[in-house]
Amino acid sequence: MFFRDILGQERVLGHLRAAWNAGRLAHAYLFIGPDGVGRASVARALAAALNCAKPIEGWDACGECPSCKRMAAGTHADFRVILPTSEGRQPQIKIEQIREFRRLTAYPPMEGGWRVVLIKPGEAMNPAAANALLKTLEEPPERHLVIIAAGSEAELFPTIVSRCQKLAFTPLPTALVVRELQTRKGLSEKDAVFLTALSGGSLGRALTLDPGEMAQQRRQVLDDLTQLAGGTATVVLDWSSRLAKNNQELDFFVLLAQMWYRDLLLLNSGAPARLLAHQDCLAEMEQERGRSGPKAWFAAFTALAAAHRQLQANLNAQLTLDILGFRLQRQGYGYESR
Ligand SMILES: [Zn+2]
Repeated sequence: MFFRDILGQERVLGHLRAAWNAGRLAHAYLFIGPDGVGRASVARALAAALNCAKPIEGWDACGECPSCKRMAAGTHADFRVILPTSEGRQPQIKIEQIREFRRLTAYPPMEGGWRVVLIKPGEAMNPAAANALLKTLEEPPERHLVIIAAGSEAELFPTIVSRCQKLAFTPLPTALVVRELQTRKGLSEKDAVFLTALSGGSLGRALTLDPGEMAQQRRQVLDDLTQLAGGTATVVLDWSSRLAKNNQELDFFVLLAQMWYRDLLLLNSGAPARLLAHQDCLAEMEQERGRSGPKAWFAAFTALAAAHRQLQANLNAQLTLDILGFRLQRQGYGYESR
C-alpha cells in the first residue's frame, strides 16, 4: 500500500507530507475516523515510505526495493500491527501485547529504518495496556512511530490522546465509493448506491457487503417493521429475543431501518429518488406514505438511534430491544390519529 493508492483523505496526506518534508513527523499519531476509510492503509503507506530505500519524489515508497517487497508480503520486521486478541462486542488489546512491543523499542529498528506500530482499534486497549503504552509515548524512542487508529477520542484515555498528534479521517465521498464498488466488484449502479448508503462512506465496509444478501436482510427488516407496527406485546417480545441472539442481524436491522425512515423523510421533503438508499423500493415507500407520516417516521428514527447508542455502549441488548420494539409498535400505522 502506497500513498499514491490512498483514496480521498487529501488533508491527512497533505499534513503528513508537509511534516515529512520538514523533518517533523510526530512520534505518535492518532488516526481518528470510521472503519474502512483508509486509516490502516495510510499507516502502511507511511511505514513503507519511512523504510523505502529509494522513495519516489522523496516521499512515497518505490515498491521495488527489498524493504518495499517485505512490506508488501507482510513480512517486514519493523512494521507491527497490534490487534485485539478476542472478538465480540468488547474486543481487548492486552498489556502483554503492549509489553512485547515495548521490549522491542529497547533496540533500534532491525532493518535500519523506522519501526512503526499500528494499534487498531485504540479503544480496545484495556487500562493496563494503555498505561504501558503511555510510558513509550512519554519517552519516545528514536526512529519509532506509534499510530493509534480509533473511531473517536472519547473512549481513549486523555493522557494518551494528549501525547499524540491527531489526524481526522473523513468518510469517503459517496460518488467515490459507488465508483470503486462498480469497478472492483462489477456491481450495477443501483446496487452500488444501496451498499454505499449502508456503509456510511466506508469503502472497507461496503466491500464486505453482498447486494443480494443485503436485499434479503432488508426484506426481513421491512416485514419486521410491519409486524411490529400492528403487533401485540407477544410479537414485540418474540422479535426482540430473536434479534438479541444474533449480533449481525441486529446490527443490520438497526442500520437498514434507520435508512428506511431517513429515506421516507427525504422523499416526503421532495428529495430526488437518486439520493435514497432504498431507491428500488419506491412503491413500498409510497404505500408507507399512505399509512403514516413524518411525525411517526421521525419518532421511529429517533428510537432506533437511541437503541444504536445503547447497544454500542454495551447495555443489555435484550432490554434495549424490548424498549425499541415497543417504541416502533407505538409508531405503527394510525398511531398519530389515535
Ligand atoms: Zn522502496
